[in-house]
Amino acid sequence: MRRFSYDGSPILYLVATPIGNLEDITYRASRILKEVKRIYAEDTRNSLVLLKHYDIKTPLVSYHDFSSLEEAKKIIDYILAGNDVALISDAGMPVISDPGFKLVELAIQNDIRVVVVPGPSAFITAFAASNLAMPLHFYGFLPPKELKRQEFLENIKYQTGTLIFYEAPHRLRETVCSMLRILGDRKAVIARELTKKYEEYIWDNLSNLDLDLKGEIVLLVEGHIENNLETDPFKLIDLKVKEGTKLSSAVKEVALMLNLKKNELYLEYLKKKENQ
Ligand code: SAM
Repeated sequence: MRRFSYDGSPILYLVATPIGNLEDITYRASRILKEVKRIYAEDTRNSLVLLKHYDIKTPLVSYHDFSSLEEAKKIIDYILAGNDVALISDAGMPVISDPGFKLVELAIQNDIRVVVVPGPSAFITAFAASNLAMPLHFYGFLPPKELKRQEFLENIKYQTGTLIFYEAPHRLRETVCSMLRILGDRKAVIARELTKKYEEYIWDNLSNLDLDLKGEIVLLVEGHIENNLETDPFKLIDLKVKEGTKLSSAVKEVALMLNLKKNELYLEYLKKKENQ
């Protein structure tokens, strides 16, 4: 059994920093960042902006996911020599889709106390205003390769509650198309640029979301409920037409989403309508 409690020995702090709005830092976070001997940061240039804003003069050292095991061990030795240090990431909570996992693992193995100074995280912020159901399942970034992504989605398609993902704007379309193919046309929310000037929430079905977006994005998708695994292209076309999209555009969009041939889909759709 492993148990940690305060005994005055040195600490690895995981300090949450703002996800956009620089005012979103706690009094405690700012104090700890001033008190520790070193701050390890993913991108030191980026973190300098925050530290300057709060007049924090603690030495800043680079630590990221590509840092070697040797570098992580050096940090552990530095803590074991009696120095409190803090780990921060570019935004939000370290370790959450950000560097730090390896360092925390080594710290625990070396009986170093790990203390989290809590604060913002994009997925929690997004979920609170999404009005989607508990439980929430946070997956971070989906695999970028299509086949791996599909395999991943296949494994979670019966999960109930809310599925939450981080996604880069240039990959949003591919990701939503994979979701439509595997999860069906579910309710979804895009939470964009949270805590920043152009913060925006978009609620719609996956097939209808605006996908030409910029900025930082959290994508939230309704978990499995009966009948929401709908991927019937004809129903998706009907839905779009009902919502005011021209038939030719609706066919084009659905073909793109489901990876189907546009002309064949159009002909089959017309044939189906004739027989109805
Ligand atoms: N550690 C961070 C956290 O606790 O949320 C996440 C870091 S991860 C490398 C970066 C991703 O988080 C972005 O690509 C985006 O999906 C999401 N993200 C971060 N800040 C955001 C914001 N202000 N608005 C929306 N999404 C954000």
